[in-house]
Amino acid sequence: MINFSAITSSTHSYNFHTHTQFCDGHATIQEFVEEAVNRQFKHLGFTPHGPLNVESPCNMSRADVVPFVNEVRRMQAIHASAIHIYAGMEMDFLNTRQFTELTQSTMAAQLDYRIGSVHFIPAFDDTDQYIDIDGRFERFKPKMSLYFHGDIEAVVKSYFNQQMLMVETGGFDIIGHFDKIGLNASLYSTGIDQQPWYDRLVINLLEAILDHGYIIEINTKAWQQHNRFFPNQKYFPLLKKYNAPIIVNSDAHYPALIDSGRPEALQLLKLC
Ligand SMILES: [Zn+2]
Ligand SMILES: [Zn+2]
Repeated sequence: MINFSAITSSTHSYNFHTHTQFCDGHATIQEFVEEAVNRQFKHLGFTPHGPLNVESPCNMSRADVVPFVNEVRRMQAIHASAIHIYAGMEMDFLNTRQFTELTQSTMAAQLDYRIGSVHFIPAFDDTDQYIDIDGRFERFKPKMSLYFHGDIEAVVKSYFNQQMLMVETGGFDIIGHFDKIGLNASLYSTGIDQQPWYDRLVINLLEAILDHGYIIEINTKAWQQHNRFFPNQKYFPLLKKYNAPIIVNSDAHYPALIDSGRPEALQLLKLC
């Protein structure tokens, strides 16, 4: 297991959430490594969206897991003197059975670490479909009437319920962007994330995360466009108060964005 707290307390020159052409990223592992080395990063972790049995163009295939790890190891050997490179995975939680199976079926690949993330919730009907609610708002909005009867409060509650089940299931090291639904939900219904019931969902989840000892990702992907971190910066003082283990990741899909929003988040954390 990587000693994340030793890394994050000794340097800010890292990113442990990166997507390449092995899933929905837009560059090769080599291109990301070159960018990171140019920026004098000391640690770079790759986290393709893990294989899923539901239709999803964003996720890697099962056949690609071992070639992905091999390519990371090959790059590590070439760049060993400049940077530490790690093979991780961003694992989607659909349900306890699927998540446990995914953890077990990828064990042989000897990943260095895993991020657990929720991007899907079950449709509000009896079709057993899981709907991606993580994408851009233009894609999210029509799904509200198609799959969720327009009930945004129920969508938010279902999302946090999925997170809670994932936390209880385990099999990962870092919890990814744990209140990301807050962005699409507040674009759909302004101020929904300011409601007391919403806050309680976040805080209950945060306490469960801490009880289980996961590292909390502060995800900076939306900072440039939406001035919002995941978790929302309004929770930073609480993270500090709880002395939560934190890692600041850009969730980059392009090499140029490898550090996007990270200096701002790190600066804000320092001021809390
Ligand atoms: Zn994600
Ligand atoms: Zn990601």
